Amino acid sequence: MHIKKLVLDGFKSFGRTTEIPFYEDFTVVTGPNGSGKSNIIDGVLFALGLARTRGIRAEKLTDLIYNPGHADGSDGDAAPTGPNEATVTVVLDNGDGTLDRSQVVNAAGSEDVGDVSEIEVRRRVKETEENYYSYYYLNGRACNLSDIQDLLAQAGITPEGYNVVMQGDVTEIINMTPHQRRGIIDEIAGVAEFDAKKEDAFEE
Ligand code: ATP
Ligand code: MG
Repeated sequence: MHIKKLVLDGFKSFGRTTEIPFYEDFTVVTGPNGSGKSNIIDGVLFALGLARTRGIRAEKLTDLIYNPGHADGSDGDAAPTGPNEATVTVVLDNGDGTLDRSQVVNAAGSEDVGDVSEIEVRRRVKETEENYYSYYYLNGRACNLSDIQDLLAQAGITPEGYNVVMQGDVTEIINMTPHQRRGIIDEIAGVAEFDAKKEDAFEE
């Protein structure tokens, strides 16, 4: 399974609907500083509900909504005048059958999920005067974050996983003590999760 396409609409610097294709093996995004490269990764983490551990470089969810106040390269504190919602869609190529139909139907809570050779995960955040709301969709069917997370976990994609090597991470890894570095390997191997559970159990 791999990401086939990302569609950003009103998300961070993407004021206009922007489609980004991803290739199976390797995709490179280049551009000047501040042009929105990292915002693309933020979009993936946002839509797939993976942002909890790695962070999406925003203080609050509504900071993710496109704000034309940023156009001058400022931090965008000017009164927001742009749209009041952001939508990101991640299209996953499931042509290899990583997830089977019943798993998708289960997560979506509906038989009406279309062809599951493509899995479309969409998240929308909407701001009103008093509040903000977050909506998730799986192949067009409204569902909860936990439904999406449970489904992706079955394909080995979890919020606890080392999904993104962030800017500065490589230098950090080089400067780590061997013990700290071992921690990362445990995390990748999925051992860290069990260590944490074991510790919790001992505390109880
Ligand atoms: P670098 O090469 O320095 O890592 P980058 O291409 O990764 O740069 P990003 O961090 O993705 O750049 O994008 C930063 C830009 O996104 C800034 O110009 C900032 O003003 C803009 N930005 C962030 N949030 C918003 C928002 N809510 N609305 C509009 N623009 C935003
Ligand atoms: Mg960057």
